[in-house]
Amino acid sequence: PLPLAIYPDRVNSRGVEFGDRFQLASLVEGMQRSGATVEAGPLAPGLKGGAAQEIRSPSDASKIVGTVRFTDPQDVDKAVGIAAQGFRTWSRTDAGVRAAALDRAADLLEERRDRFMALLAAEAGKTLDDGIAEIREAVDFLRYYADRSREMFATLQPMPGPTGEENRLGWRGRGVFVCISPWNFPLAIFLGQVTAGLAAGNAVIAKPAEQTPLVAHEAIALLHEAGVPGDALLCLPGAGDVGAALTSHPKIGGVAFTGSTETARAINRTLAAKDGPIVPFIAETGGLNAMIVDATALAEQVADDVVMSAFRSAGQRCSALRLLFVQEDVADQMLEMIEGAARELKLGDPSKPSTDIGPVIDEAQRDMLAAHIATISKTQKLTYAGEVPNEGLFFAPHIVELKDAGALDREIFGPVLHVVRYKAKKLDAVLDAIDATGFGLTLGVQSRIESTVRKVIDRLDTGNVYVNRNIIGAVVGTQPFGGSGLSGTGFKAGGPHYLMRFAVEQVVSVNT
Ligand code: GLU
Repeated sequence: PLPLAIYPDRVNSRGVEFGDRFQLASLVEGMQRSGATVEAGPLAPGLKGGAAQEIRSPSDASKIVGTVRFTDPQDVDKAVGIAAQGFRTWSRTDAGVRAAALDRAADLLEERRDRFMALLAAEAGKTLDDGIAEIREAVDFLRYYADRSREMFATLQPMPGPTGEENRLGWRGRGVFVCISPWNFPLAIFLGQVTAGLAAGNAVIAKPAEQTPLVAHEAIALLHEAGVPGDALLCLPGAGDVGAALTSHPKIGGVAFTGSTETARAINRTLAAKDGPIVPFIAETGGLNAMIVDATALAEQVADDVVMSAFRSAGQRCSALRLLFVQEDVADQMLEMIEGAARELKLGDPSKPSTDIGPVIDEAQRDMLAAHIATISKTQKLTYAGEVPNEGLFFAPHIVELKDAGALDREIFGPVLHVVRYKAKKLDAVLDAIDATGFGLTLGVQSRIESTVRKVIDRLDTGNVYVNRNIIGAVVGTQPFGGSGLSGTGFKAGGPHYLMRFAVEQVVSVNT
């Protein structure tokens, strides 16, 4: 197996050569020069959508990436009806045949990675490194869920016991599964949810984030091309009203959602109030992720890992580092190195190989980040503010020193690192502060004292704990991803149990 601490750019998780950002940059440039745009709309038999709206690139507002026709919420009922029909055939299709379609889609996605990378850069502001990682993750999800579904659904599991009968346990899809996904991983998380639903034998209605409907459109078209029937997989681009119409529909079989904790609460309330079957809700939400750095940590490694965790992808990952606790004896030295490393980061056109950080997704995010810095710097110490290019929706890395962790009471989704110094004797208070956030997505600990590492892991229930490394970029099948508390419901995406929530169990007992 590959040394996953490295998990190099050049190969995918199966060890297949993938290409690095320099090779891919010229392909991406070629795609962009061709001027090809995407025309997206509902991918659902008979549904047209509203007037075409332009989608412009977050890194360059003069660049039109394509157009989208949003779904009319009135059409949602029709879409659910179509998917309910599609479910009948897809759920009774052999699990191996379903899995083969997903594998084919993985092959197609790898073949067309330059096109998807160009689109990820243009529509979502993804750098080439982020684009490579995202396509690789999407491919991993497709293959992983295909493999899991072969194990889980292809055969009935004999159950032991004293009854003298033949007892067998099997799995089936639940019906029409609604997948609502975020703009920060418009391909990987989007396809992760959708393909889990399909692999488990559900019909899926995908509602992509309103900021990134074009990548979603191409991805769903690719799954159709790979053999998933059009009535078993629908895509309804739209705003929140389309999501609301879907989640309140009485005939859906479940909802998978990745996004904010508030929206997850709203969906949960809707599901509780609606008529029809009681359905599962799979939510992956935010984090107020921390890293603890003690005096035994390796300073160079800390600087590298902190900058990567807090600022890569412009901090627009739910796994990103928000709160850094540094033991005060080494804080000045560590912070100087972190700031030095942050200074080296280059913001700019995401499709250039020299760019480390692209734009944030839209004006609302940029304005939220600017307002946060303006407010927090009145009472806390702003120690670093990077320089920002003059155009586009860029927001440079910032570092703010907090008097105590309580000064940050919500997730700030962007490249802002908050730092708190702690005394060696007060590690317990640090752990209490992290626990008190109520979130539990990712956590880092940098220390070479085994008992400290053990203590941190034992005390907190955080979903993904990373020791002496960065805290982003969970690998499908190896680091199943997802949190507890305010961060989500489980099971973990890319883990062995994820598909179970998408399925119902059936036991057949035969008196032989
Ligand atoms: N799975 C991603 C990671 O480990 C984060 C997913 C997200 O931001 O929603 O970095």
